[in-house]
Amino acid sequence: MKEQLQEIKKRAEKEIKSTDEFAKLKEIQVKYLGKKGEITQVLRSMGKLSKEDRPFIGKLANQVKDEITEIIDKRKEYLEDLEKDKRYISERIDVTLPGIKPVISQLHPLTLIMNEIKEIFLGMGFTIADGPEIETDYYNFEALNIPKEHPARDMQDSFYITEEILLRTHTSPVQIRTMERVAPEVPLRIIAPGKVYRRDDDATHSPMFHQVEGFAVDKEISMGDLKGTLLTFARQMFGKDLQIRLRPSFFPFTEPSAEVDISCVICRGDGCRVCGQTGWMEILGAGMIHPRVLEISGYDPEKVTGYAFGMGVERIAMLKYSMDDLRLFFTNDLRMLEQF
Ligand SMILES: [Zn+2]
Repeated sequence: MKEQLQEIKKRAEKEIKSTDEFAKLKEIQVKYLGKKGEITQVLRSMGKLSKEDRPFIGKLANQVKDEITEIIDKRKEYLEDLEKDKRYISERIDVTLPGIKPVISQLHPLTLIMNEIKEIFLGMGFTIADGPEIETDYYNFEALNIPKEHPARDMQDSFYITEEILLRTHTSPVQIRTMERVAPEVPLRIIAPGKVYRRDDDATHSPMFHQVEGFAVDKEISMGDLKGTLLTFARQMFGKDLQIRLRPSFFPFTEPSAEVDISCVICRGDGCRVCGQTGWMEILGAGMIHPRVLEISGYDPEKVTGYAFGMGVERIAMLKYSMDDLRLFFTNDLRMLEQF
């Protein structure tokens, strides 16, 4: 029986070392060490042995069993290494090959203009605030001194979700939300860029467009501060030689209110077809924050004043890039978008 065991071991070793497949290795393991394997058979037939021989053969059988197991494990390790090596070779990357250049697009012209606007105001000490695009009637209208039934609501045909909730029609609600949060602390110098929504759709209007709201609250803020700030902005955006002018206007949330014009970016003020021979172009609306709006937001209008302005980003972009149809920004025509 001793010879039989040694013969089994020799045979198993030979088979194991000549295989290079994991499946085959498993088969060999079952063949020799499994429940019906050869070693198991030997152990079972030990009953036939004499009492003296039994411990010796039993020990030897278990020893052979361990040895075969070890040979199998080693072979398995060897095969795994072999496979790894193969994979390294097949997956090797030649770093000297020229790369595949990914198609990188560029920023949308409106994003470029927004970034430029932000840069200019950040340079003047403003910080950026953000607010929800889905607003309540209170923040979009009432807190801005536009009660229900106020005719100014007609100027902003809105998308209502419920009677009290709508898509914001301007970025001015951010002004209220910020003032509410900070009041009565001053100074405040904030711009709030973002998307706004109105039911308009033609060559100069889109149902979704972008605004930048700007405002400042402090002791002794005047219309002069507003004009200086806007002049600095206009000159950095359109050129050092530009002038601005303020025309009296009306907004419910500012008093006094003004429409702000810049000298025509085409003729520089001489008068041309684009500016209707006036030499001026309207770019934004502005004014001193209405005392009532300050009060609603938690400020004492006897102690502080403020100015606010709101500009359409598309309008600025169209002037800057001499475009006549706003819809071009949203038609995703790469021939147009790649020119910036
Ligand atoms: Zn002109």
